Amino acid sequence: MIYETQPTASHYVDGAYLEDTDGTPIPVIYAATGARIATVHAATPAVIDRALTAAARAQTDWARLSGRERGRVLIRAAQILRERNREMSVLETCDTGKPLQETLIADAASAADALEYFGGLAGSLTGEHIPLGGDWAYTMREPLGVCVGIGAWNYPTQIAAWKAAPALACGNAMVFKPSEVTPLCALKLAEILTEAGAPAGLFNVVQGAGEAGQALISDPRVAKVSLTGSVPTGRKVYAAAAADMKHVTMELGGKSPLLIFEDADLENAVGGAILANFYSSGQICSNGTRVFVQKSVKEAFLARLTERLKGVVMGDPLDEATNFGPMVSEAQMRIVEGYIAKGVEEGARLVTGGKRAARDGFFLEPTVFADVTDGMTIAREEIFGPVMAVLDFEDEDEAVARANATEFGLAAGVFTRDISRAHRVIGALKAGTCFINSYNDAPVEMPFGGVGMSGVGRENAKAAIEHYSQLKSVYVRMGDVEAPY
Ligand code: NDP
Repeated sequence: MIYETQPTASHYVDGAYLEDTDGTPIPVIYAATGARIATVHAATPAVIDRALTAAARAQTDWARLSGRERGRVLIRAAQILRERNREMSVLETCDTGKPLQETLIADAASAADALEYFGGLAGSLTGEHIPLGGDWAYTMREPLGVCVGIGAWNYPTQIAAWKAAPALACGNAMVFKPSEVTPLCALKLAEILTEAGAPAGLFNVVQGAGEAGQALISDPRVAKVSLTGSVPTGRKVYAAAAADMKHVTMELGGKSPLLIFEDADLENAVGGAILANFYSSGQICSNGTRVFVQKSVKEAFLARLTERLKGVVMGDPLDEATNFGPMVSEAQMRIVEGYIAKGVEEGARLVTGGKRAARDGFFLEPTVFADVTDGMTIAREEIFGPVMAVLDFEDEDEAVARANATEFGLAAGVFTRDISRAHRVIGALKAGTCFINSYNDAPVEMPFGGVGMSGVGRENAKAAIEHYSQLKSVYVRMGDVEAPY
């Protein structure tokens, strides 16, 4: 089947597609074959300027609407996304290589959830009344202004919507820069928002690599930057934003621990470890890639895991029977291959996988290492691929201490049937997003984000409102002013 993947133009600015072929061409590669499926151009300074000008203009009028009126547009966009779920999912698969079996339920659907949730919330964004005896004060919740969103390549539709939905609900406008690896999906979101009634300029998409991101962040018209990306990029973006005291949300990388105790339901623990490592071929920031398994159940865990990984079906991601796709790009595949080689070199036991699949595209086998120790590279660095490191432990205190011995703090999970232990362990783990007897659920109602080097701020849930609005406090004197002279 032939799908139309070449977008109408590279950028979406001021309510319409916009092209500027002076920008550096960016090839869009289908990860399952290595074939070029589209070409876009990086934004030139002129395109970036147009996008920011349009956003600033649109924001002023948008902020004057009632929250309910803003919410209505977002909810309409959610409905359109749901109606076009298949079309959006096919595009997401072409953009990322993730299997259609996954994208049909995880991407446009999650974006629609965010638009619906924040659309519903938009009418209830209020300040508070603070009685002070005779006098009183009140707070007003105001938008920040023009927000910049910068996305990673693993969830292009979801990341754009997770940023746009709370931003727009609060009365901001947004200029979004997708990863240059996956430039297609955010354009469709922009198109749908326009169709749903968003005014021209409210949500703009400009393409490009790091320079485009830097140009956006350093522009004085921008009030906030929300980045989903790696820690090194986060450092640069945060520093650039700090120069002008801009607000930031940083959704960065992780090396999250998943603790499996001997009393856990083994089948569920294996399922959780699979979801924590191999969904989206391991390209998920919150993945529980350090799997600590209590020694007494380690071999049983590894045996069952190996058995269940036989259920992996690699193939054309557009075939709904396929449940395991390629790495997003050749570059990412090489990075992951490098980590697999390091694992072997440093003495970890390769239980399964470890090789490139014998087919076109950037497919790697799901890979499990056992007998991993804390100092090994594969236990310390984010790999962002289908590589699970299994470490064993004797007791709870040891497992918690070792799980916390990392600069990251995005997520953590525990599998146990002991409810006291479950809550005690989660209470002691240094992570922003945690799971008990589950892994990687991300409902929009639950705040998502990290601590430590994994980030600043929260996406989703009511918590995101704090990061896309600011309070104005107003003191009201009801009597006369008493001045000393
Ligand atoms: P990168 O950090 O390489 O890039 C993220 C985005 O930032 C891209 O759009 C990139 O542009 C852009 N960028 C790069 N340099 C700069 C700069 N100096 N100024 C402004 N923007 C810049 O991450 P990846 O795209 O490789 O994504 C993988 C990373 O994202 C992993 O570390 C993963 O953990 C993290 N991530 C975090 C999530 C979270 O919610 N916590 C969710 C998903 C991923 P370009 O790539 O086009 O050059």
